[in-house]
Amino acid sequence: MTTANNIEKVVIVGGGSAGWLTAGVLAATLRRRGLDSVSVTLIEAPGIATIGVGEGTWPSMRSTLKSIGLSETDFIRHCDAAFKQGTCFSGWKGSADADQYLHPFTLPQNYHDSNSAAEWLQNGQGMRFSDAVTAQGRLAPLGYAPKSMATPEYAFYLNYGYHLNAGKFAELLREHCIENLGVVHRLGEVRRVRAADSGNLLGLELDTGEYLSGDFFVDCTGMRALLLGEHFGVPLKSCADVLFNDTALAVQVPYADPDQPVASCTISTAQEAGWVWDIGLSNRRGVGYVYSQAHSDDDSAGKVLERYLAASGAFDTPEPRRIRFTPGYRERFWTRNCLAIGMAAGFIEPLEASALVLVELSARYLAEDFPVTQDMLPAAERSFNRRFAHHWHMIIDFLKLHYVLSKRGGEYWQDHRRRESIPEFLQDRLALWKYRPPWHQDAIASDDMFPPASYQYVLYGMGFATDAGDSQVMAATTGRPSVIDEVSRLAGKLERQLPAHRDLLNRIREHRLPTV
Ligand SMILES: Cc1cc2nc3c(=O)[nH]c(=O)nc-3n(C[C@H](O)[C@H](O)[C@H](O)COP(=O)(O)OP(=O)(O)OC[C@H]3O[C@@H](n4cnc5c(N)ncnc54)[C@H](O)[C@@H]3O)c2cc1C
Repeated sequence: MTTANNIEKVVIVGGGSAGWLTAGVLAATLRRRGLDSVSVTLIEAPGIATIGVGEGTWPSMRSTLKSIGLSETDFIRHCDAAFKQGTCFSGWKGSADADQYLHPFTLPQNYHDSNSAAEWLQNGQGMRFSDAVTAQGRLAPLGYAPKSMATPEYAFYLNYGYHLNAGKFAELLREHCIENLGVVHRLGEVRRVRAADSGNLLGLELDTGEYLSGDFFVDCTGMRALLLGEHFGVPLKSCADVLFNDTALAVQVPYADPDQPVASCTISTAQEAGWVWDIGLSNRRGVGYVYSQAHSDDDSAGKVLERYLAASGAFDTPEPRRIRFTPGYRERFWTRNCLAIGMAAGFIEPLEASALVLVELSARYLAEDFPVTQDMLPAAERSFNRRFAHHWHMIIDFLKLHYVLSKRGGEYWQDHRRRESIPEFLQDRLALWKYRPPWHQDAIASDDMFPPASYQYVLYGMGFATDAGDSQVMAATTGRPSVIDEVSRLAGKLERQLPAHRDLLNRIREHRLPTV
């Protein structure tokens, strides 16, 4: 039954990755839930470009794409996508020994039952942590794919996300949302926002003369945050006192040889005032330097990127694009009948690629807890804001962890280690982890984006010392089969089964992955 109280018309403003992912998740989930009377319209301004970067995803993207009905083969072919198995950090420790470690996507072996960090602390110190506790630690850096041609779409032997072309991704999502999920598409620039006396949004006036009314609005207008920021005046809370990076130089680099191996991890290389990302797609690399203006001028930053590109064999590279941003997030994400998702909700540097996964989480939350009546709005607003403020705090803490453990010299790195720049919660956790490894009791919410395993990978990758004491270590390991031995056996077996990453990408161009 339709009443004036029902929410039946959702209008999404913005056609970047955030807008189209939200449209897809919302339309598919509402349909699955039988809420067929709710329509989803997306409006984008043809004259305002999308940010065009954002090429590394989390494994969560697999379930997102599957849930909206996209074929993985089509996605990989259309978006020049490759498989991402984690992030390889180079030069972050700042120590003389081999300065590389991996934060893989696969959890340590037997993670739910036993804390393999305890076994590694006792028996495995000669090995890299990620090599000891997961087969992915050994195989991903060697160039193995996480699955084979016989593995069904979205299934895996080793957990993975993607490296993708952001422009082509938005294009594919647009096509799929319009043709298969019933999303209505409008082109036009929003010029004026109309609101009721209550403050709730009523509709949008476009430069085309069209007026679009709605019951619920999603602000996906990128850094501009047209609805939440400009109209509602919700301020951005800067976190530049904790994470200093506020500028990126981004460039696309062709492969010298089209059959060159494709890295299956994002490579993150520490530099004097930030770090360089290097992302391998099937047909090119995406490379960029993200740095702090307070610690480097733009010319010096340009030289850092040039040096990196030259050392990595890049040639014929175009002028890099410069992108400025204020690291931080909105004080509220949801206000009245408007929710901001994507860059409109906030952005912190791309270390650990946490932006698209937040888009996926936000869209899923909205879709699963969709406020079907106006009465539900205040509770949904409070619940969303509380939950996502937690996510942002935890992202900031986790990203900061990478910096505070570094021994690198120079003002940028020293500033990162200043106690007043380290969130108190992170300081407390670091104090505890000196005496015991991170474990399940460190998870705060069931949907925490970074599980304690991620903290283990970064802490022990960076050479953090935990003196767990014999009793704790013994309690965690006695009577259990050795995880390190099990991982060695598994790695040996997978080495015989898995193809090289490049070979698998080439084969997917010619043959489809099986579906189940
Ligand atoms: C340097 C850098 C690297 C990044 N790397 C990663 C990464 O590896 N992994 C990751 O997950 N994320 C990454 N991100 C973040 C990621 O790029 C974004 O989260 C993602 O692209 C979503 O952007 P968006 O859709 O919110 O905004 P945008 O792409 O900016 O889209 C904004 C949309 O709003 C529309 N619009 C604006 N104003 C109006 C108006 N008045 N009327 C109508 N439409 C309007 C525009 O036309 C456009 O369609 C990175 C970001 C940066 C800056």
